[in-house]
Amino acid sequence: MKKFILSFIFCFAIDAKAFVVLVDPGHGGKELGAVSYIVKKINGKKETIKIYEKDLALKLGKLIKEKLSEHFTVYLTRSFDSTVGLQERADLADTVKADLFISIHFNSSKNRKSHGFETFYLDNHDDQAVQKVERIENKSLDGADKIINQILIDLAVKKTAKQSRTVATSIHQEIKKAVEKRFRIKDRGVKPSLFYVLALSKRPGILLEAGFMSNPSEVFQIKSDNYLEVYAEAVVKGVKQYYDSQPKRLPLF
Ligand SMILES: [Zn+2]
Repeated sequence: MKKFILSFIFCFAIDAKAFVVLVDPGHGGKELGAVSYIVKKINGKKETIKIYEKDLALKLGKLIKEKLSEHFTVYLTRSFDSTVGLQERADLADTVKADLFISIHFNSSKNRKSHGFETFYLDNHDDQAVQKVERIENKSLDGADKIINQILIDLAVKKTAKQSRTVATSIHQEIKKAVEKRFRIKDRGVKPSLFYVLALSKRPGILLEAGFMSNPSEVFQIKSDNYLEVYAEAVVKGVKQYYDSQPKRLPLF
């Protein structure tokens, strides 16, 4: 009996390491993403500091990778400030045989009062507010990436929407529990969306918008080490929950 339990635990651990997560910090290099301008007094003089979405996304992505790696096999689509095309990110998902794709972003709006965190998964919808976010995040699609078409999107939706919704819900619930009250940040919900990077990756995946860089007070909150740490921890809890809910291979004797 003891041998059985040990074998089971051993095989479970092996199984978890066989689960591959690809963490995708949005933008990078010449693709800045959202930009936030913060006025600071330095040596008595007012100076404007720029904060780029690409940098915050990389910082959060690295934190998530570090924490997730304790349980699963994890890769990053970029580990420094480099330009990586959407198709390239998706191709990497094939190369590493990712079971799950997590794209990381921070939001921006012309309305500086917009605030909160939201989680997206690939599915059809007619939500105009979501279309605005799609226009921003799909902008970097160029050159060879443009081959994406409706047939490809439909196939990806059919193949992944159900599982992606499950993982989006698990992760979002954990983020909500961790940050909504503690940081007084609004829960904007789990939403279907048509982000090209999710369609191109053709596997269960989500796109996280971890807060609004265009909101002058929210940007201070979401760029803090404390927020990023708590948010990353919540993502890991959500992935573990999703993993635990999936059917496992039986241990071999
Ligand atoms: Zn973005």
